[in-house]
Amino acid sequence: MNLNHQSNQHLSTTIHDMRNELEGLDNEIKELKEKQRLLIIRLKKECYHPHDSLRECAYEKNFFVSTFPPMRVCMICGTWEEGWGCGYKALKSNSENSVPMIPRDELYRFRRGDQKGPDVD
Ligand SMILES: [Zn+2]
Repeated sequence: MNLNHQSNQHLSTTIHDMRNELEGLDNEIKELKEKQRLLIIRLKKECYHPHDSLRECAYEKNFFVSTFPPMRVCMICGTWEEGWGCGYKALKSNSENSVPMIPRDELYRFRRGDQKGPDVD
């Protein structure tokens, strides 16, 4: 009887400790994500997106989801841009060489933040 009581107390202490540890980790993750967000903003401001760092994927017609626009990404800072309409602005290349094409899913892995940002501090 007494043993059971101690066992339950130990169990609830353990659960309480784990709960506290989990909340601590949640806070650390939140702080790291904010730190990451601010660093991405700084990196995107500093990066000049050199031609060699650019990759592009082609326009893609998808029967079920409609269409995907052509897209470019800077592999250094993760800035990405869709190439609809008048083409690329931030990731425009002045090189005579074409931007190397890569599969769409591979390009997605280099993207960071929103298409137009994250430019807001
Ligand atoms: Zn860049």
